Amino acid sequence: MKLVVSAFAVAAMAVTSFAVPAFAQDKGTIGIAMPTKSSARWISDGESMVQQFEEAGYSTDLQYAEDNIPNQLSQIENMITKGVDALVIASIDGTTLSNALANAAAAGIPVVAYDRLIRESGDVDYYATFDNFQVGVQQGSSLVKGLEERFPEEDVWNVELFGGSPDDNNAYYFYDGAMSVLQPLIDDGKIDIVSGQMGMNQVGTLRWDGAVAQARMDNLLSANYTDETIHGVLSPYDGLSIGILSSLKGVGYGSGDQKMPIVTGQDAELPSIKSINMGEQYSTVFKDTRELARVTVGMVQALLEGGEPEINDTETYDNGVKVVPSYLLAPVAVDGSNWKEILVDQSGYYTLEQIQE
Ligand code: BGC
Repeated sequence: MKLVVSAFAVAAMAVTSFAVPAFAQDKGTIGIAMPTKSSARWISDGESMVQQFEEAGYSTDLQYAEDNIPNQLSQIENMITKGVDALVIASIDGTTLSNALANAAAAGIPVVAYDRLIRESGDVDYYATFDNFQVGVQQGSSLVKGLEERFPEEDVWNVELFGGSPDDNNAYYFYDGAMSVLQPLIDDGKIDIVSGQMGMNQVGTLRWDGAVAQARMDNLLSANYTDETIHGVLSPYDGLSIGILSSLKGVGYGSGDQKMPIVTGQDAELPSIKSINMGEQYSTVFKDTRELARVTVGMVQALLEGGEPEINDTETYDNGVKVVPSYLLAPVAVDGSNWKEILVDQSGYYTLEQIQE
């Protein structure tokens, strides 16, 4: 019996290798440069792309640079030297890659900017991302929704603003999108930015570092809120929100009659969804990284196999040298009222156990 089974297994293997020709995994290698593993979203971006490129018959060379710009540059230069067939890059600093990309172009290697626009280079072929301005609009709107819900009795809401990393093009879109909602309320006196700190040059958070945000929040609280109560914080990313929340908790917000201020976020990272579920962080923005990977893989396939990459925006993303043809996915605002429906029931991005454990 044993013999028969293994003979059958061998036959099955032979059939399998006949059905899936040896060159199926031989369409070429895609170099994927990601910024950091310190945030879960980039890990799932990388995993989704590797899986989907492999399913499409490509090999991958996936590298993370731990937010170190020279590291990322040398990873990309190595990929070019090794002769990858295409590059997918989520840049750390969107302005530092021009020379490397000129070499890629000279070697005929197409480049797709992933999530973050690569600036000051004519050698970026396509851009796959989310509607970044809309992300900011959702953050601003959700901040106002939360303020109305939690602090309806206040004539004026005291708010502080945080921006993303000034070397990330997206950070400006998030900030501008949020301010398109908040500025009219500031002008009307309904929102007071008590510290007076506004504009990306004052509120940006280098490398999206949660510890930097926490330290700035500590300073804002001690300099401006010993006699005032803070009601809301615009935070553009979950990793910053967690730092901001611990600073707020450190001075007693969220316990006794000190209501937790409304704190926004982005990426629907697990610690933040747990925090939303516990009533601490107010909201986040869900950007389905599996979908971004799908769009990107499709673009690369079209570039390498012939065909037109799918785009839906040819106006927004001027990188200083050219307007990069883009595909923008839709972000989804998530808060206590809909996280389960959006993240568990509809998308299966998480299981309920992951959130409640
Ligand atoms: C991404 C965000 C992310 C941030 C920090 C941005 O470029 O678009 O999704 O929160 O980087 O990693």
